[in-house]
Amino acid sequence: MTAVQETASAAEWRSTACILCECNCGIEVRLGGEDGRRFERIRGDKAHPASKGYTCEKALRLDHYQNGRSGRILNPLRRRPDGTFEEIDWDTAIAEVAARLRAVQEAAGPEVGGKSIFYYGGGGQGNHLGGGYGNALLRAVGGRFRSSALAQEKTGEFWVNHQMLGAMVRADFDHTEVAVFVGKNPWQSHGIPHARTTLKEIARDPGRSLVVIDPRRTETAELADFHLQVRPGTDAWLLTAMAGVIVQEGLVARQWLAEHAADVEETLEALAAVPVAEYCARSGVSQSLVRAAARRIAGATGGVAVFEDLGVQMNRHSTLVSWLEKLLWVLTGNFGKPGAVYSPSSLVDITAGGKVRGTTPVAGMPLISGLVPCNVIAEEILTDHPARYRAMIVESANPAHSLADSKRFREALEALDLVVVIDVAMTETARLAHYVLPASTQYEKWEATFFNFEFPRNVFHLRAPLLEAPDGPLPEPEIHARLVEALGAVTQEDLAPLQEAAKHSRAAFAMAFFAAVGANPKLGAVAPVVLYRTLGPTLPDGAAAASVLWAAAHKCAQAHPESVGRAGFTGEGHEAGEQLFEAILSSPSGVVITDDEYDESWRRLKTADGRIHVTIPELLAELRGLATEPAAPEPDWPFVLSAGERRSFTANTIMRDPTWRKRDPAGALRVSPGDADRLGLIDGGRARLSTRKGTGVVTVEIDDSMQDGHLALPNGLGLFSLSDNGGPMVTGLAPNELTDAAARDPFAGTPWHKHVPARLEPLAEDPPDAA
Ligand code: SF4
Repeated sequence: MTAVQETASAAEWRSTACILCECNCGIEVRLGGEDGRRFERIRGDKAHPASKGYTCEKALRLDHYQNGRSGRILNPLRRRPDGTFEEIDWDTAIAEVAARLRAVQEAAGPEVGGKSIFYYGGGGQGNHLGGGYGNALLRAVGGRFRSSALAQEKTGEFWVNHQMLGAMVRADFDHTEVAVFVGKNPWQSHGIPHARTTLKEIARDPGRSLVVIDPRRTETAELADFHLQVRPGTDAWLLTAMAGVIVQEGLVARQWLAEHAADVEETLEALAAVPVAEYCARSGVSQSLVRAAARRIAGATGGVAVFEDLGVQMNRHSTLVSWLEKLLWVLTGNFGKPGAVYSPSSLVDITAGGKVRGTTPVAGMPLISGLVPCNVIAEEILTDHPARYRAMIVESANPAHSLADSKRFREALEALDLVVVIDVAMTETARLAHYVLPASTQYEKWEATFFNFEFPRNVFHLRAPLLEAPDGPLPEPEIHARLVEALGAVTQEDLAPLQEAAKHSRAAFAMAFFAAVGANPKLGAVAPVVLYRTLGPTLPDGAAAASVLWAAAHKCAQAHPESVGRAGFTGEGHEAGEQLFEAILSSPSGVVITDDEYDESWRRLKTADGRIHVTIPELLAELRGLATEPAAPEPDWPFVLSAGERRSFTANTIMRDPTWRKRDPAGALRVSPGDADRLGLIDGGRARLSTRKGTGVVTVEIDDSMQDGHLALPNGLGLFSLSDNGGPMVTGLAPNELTDAAARDPFAGTPWHKHVPARLEPLAEDPPDAA
């Protein structure tokens, strides 16, 4: 137990964070129950610099994560030939996994070697520290290919950002005059700090406007001044029409573009020729509403803030839509000023700049941000190509459930020579692994999120453990360190001088560390583990896992010296970085790491000339192609299914205990009243939902927020958990039993989960189990 825990009494409120969405709101937890491990009370942490006491209802149910019926694993498991698992000790597990990774390298031959070992994951929401150490493991085996959920959600947008700005962007909804949400329902999916408060403030203020583009009348759309209820999958035509209105009605910020942008004219010419009325009709939104919304955006003097999310990022033309979304604020001059779009600082840049870093070995898809598109992973395995992936390390992720076409993904996992899963619970992926290595929960170890995008004051929150882990599970950094050592990638001989230097002083350590990794690139490749084993033991309260943040803090101080200085971290040389690191270590509710001025965003652009580059030739060609793209109705599949809707009680697959859901226990399929009437469906009744890839039985919820022809199934359902008698049970239908990996964006490879052709049939009586 750490000193932090020893000094905390059971009745004390302790600071940590909610782990159920990217906001990672600060919370305080009071432990209780017979064993002192229950999350007896939970409240928002007012001292958290970003969330300031705000939470939604999900955070209050976190005891179900820590203590729920999740199927927790307490010892390393090895799969027997008959598919069952046996417990083994850690030494055996580490030695065998390392040996089998080496065997995979050898089987792949000298040319491919460790590049046949694929790494997936690196952290759920708020669980990113381990991922830093996972990189070291991948390098230790000579691996190159990796992926995570970002490559089925965000890489299209990352690529567009890279092409246009060379930088990541977010938007200032706190101060904006016009807030625009494209395929996003922040009331449920959050994504911005204190989302519901902000939405209500905008809706209440007659001088501000809320524009929502969504096929459903969501909770956010209910508050909107302009709800553009787009026909599912036609966002590209709608956004093109909006940009067309801005150009054709002379609403472009020409002077601003002349000062700040490049490659403008070709895009303006294309938009000048857009048939606005025809595209509005195609998208199902009235031309007058489209024109009114476009004029409101162009006329704003107090900034326009835009946020696109999975409703369009997992939909047809997703990368094109990301570009069109950005044209709305670029053509109207809304960057780098209050209430507009900005470029945040970062402690760790999860986007890796959005650059393409090569291609995948089998499908030849671009590695945007260095990530393999999730939708091609199975085809990179199920082949006899010599460079195929032969082994997979999965950390804090559940690709067998969360990636498209689960059936095929399971086949891919079964075809691998080795699958190692590092996780808290026996997930759908862990069930297919050769080895399962149990991890501490997010509240039993030092942890942090790298989703830090606030502005002007960006925040980082390192969380101390609330509880001691039970015997057995280990934090991911320790698991990675043991594997890296077992692989021989770092030795005690390498570490000893650095351990001595770390005991002496931080300055001595810095000198010794940079000299050592400079002299020995192999050591540099596993630098996180080197830091963990050398600097780590000198950190207070057992915070060794935070050692990777030492390097990140220095990098941040070098990259953003003025912003870090305004946040209070100053001094010569490495001093500001050291101060920042110490502040991170000693701030249980999080700390402001950078304090920006609005024009800082301009200095973060990484284009060669510091301007925003408007035209992306590949996407301009796709935009022109919209004019001739046929509507292609599918008579056998009359519905469009949104597979994976965010609701009050959904949270990816982190929450495995079904009783955490206070509402919607079965994860019902939302159907419009018109469709229900036509098909003879009743509220709460059963229906058979089919797609080209699968069939399942669903509970129907008749919902007048849905438009005819559109269905919505929540995410995170269909998970194994434990029933009252301890046996396995599954609740609801897993969306990816119905999705198709081939249905994906041509640029980024991101899936079209929000546009799955589907069929729905009523079930007259109790059905057999879902097929
Ligand atoms: S918005 Fe809700 S789900 Fe997201 S981190 Fe905050 S409390 Fe958790």
